[in-house]
Amino acid sequence: MASSKVYFTDMHTCQGSNLLQKMEKLLRKAGLDKMDLDGKMVAVKLHMGEPGNLAYIRPNFAAVLVRMIKEKGGKPFLTDCNTLYRGKRANAVDHLNVAMENGFNRIAVGCDVIIADGLWGNEQREILIEKELCRTAKIGSAIADADVIISLSHFKGHDLTGFGGALKNLGMGSGSRCGKMEMHASSHPTVDAKKCVGCGQCVRNCPEKAIVLNAKKKAVIDQALCVGCGQCVAVCRYGAPEVEWEGSSEIVNKKIAEYAYAVISGKPSFHISLIMDVSPNCDCWPFNDVPIVPDIGLAASKDPVALDMACATLVNEASVGKGSVLDVKGKKGDKFKAIYPNTDWMTGMDHGQRIGLGKKDYELVRLK
Ligand code: SF4
Ligand code: SF4
Repeated sequence: MASSKVYFTDMHTCQGSNLLQKMEKLLRKAGLDKMDLDGKMVAVKLHMGEPGNLAYIRPNFAAVLVRMIKEKGGKPFLTDCNTLYRGKRANAVDHLNVAMENGFNRIAVGCDVIIADGLWGNEQREILIEKELCRTAKIGSAIADADVIISLSHFKGHDLTGFGGALKNLGMGSGSRCGKMEMHASSHPTVDAKKCVGCGQCVRNCPEKAIVLNAKKKAVIDQALCVGCGQCVAVCRYGAPEVEWEGSSEIVNKKIAEYAYAVISGKPSFHISLIMDVSPNCDCWPFNDVPIVPDIGLAASKDPVALDMACATLVNEASVGKGSVLDVKGKKGDKFKAIYPNTDWMTGMDHGQRIGLGKKDYELVRLK
């Protein structure tokens, strides 16, 4: 089986070759130029950042891509789906406000934003895929209905999947709220009563009203109502809600691969990852910690699995970011596993290859 090409350019710049110019060259070499975009609805799937997080993709990069799509006659729009957890992107109105606040608008980027799963996150298409874990995938309708999919991903760590790259952006990110519930459903938390102080923060934030405080002022989760969104884990300052991790990272990674397959199967797609500001956490958090490696560069491919493999390898080969969570004795080996020992990102890559989403073997083509 021949390997997939992943095109890469590093962070070095000079007069006449700044990062935006290098990005344009990268996208042309990687094949964007050869795509038939004329008159096509082109979904540019990206994460526009939770307010407070500054590691998300700069709108300037999206602007280059949007201009190139327009030059080829395409009709680009930026898009993402609403979140399951109660941040500031859980409905389309709040989500659009965040997009504006973070610079994703017609003036800065050159096109509009469409929240793919609508006002309340329930506008979806159920795509039949009949894979190992998901018979169908519930994809935000604006993404499902687009003619062409281009993922523009920020490559960084993730506490459930190991890292977030192209597959996470495509799979989890394109799932409607209902689709996200399906992907998370294997990681229901339980509350360690010894750690719970009964503050009620999780009760107030659970979107499914699945948590109550019992007579002893301890949080208790009704597993029948819980959708595994992880919000209680995120808001508890005492580490009381705990996820049974055995197998759950693997299952979520596999479901994400199946959802990503649903998003791009049967239509042209192209994938870009920016390996910079590689924070240990996802851009869904309202903060970003010290990057785990120095900025590495930009990569693009027609194969999202190969792209994620290349990005993970580049990060793992890089030196550890000074002062980052990895800059301590004993943290060595795979950087994502070192940060999140209970995750296994390779399970997503293996599954992605198995279901025909892409290839793990890649050839890295370095551009100046
Ligand atoms: S947020 Fe944490 S400490 Fe507070 S009630 Fe919930 S589980 Fe208990
Ligand atoms: S109990 Fe379940 S549904 Fe509620 S916040 Fe926690 S993970 Fe989400």
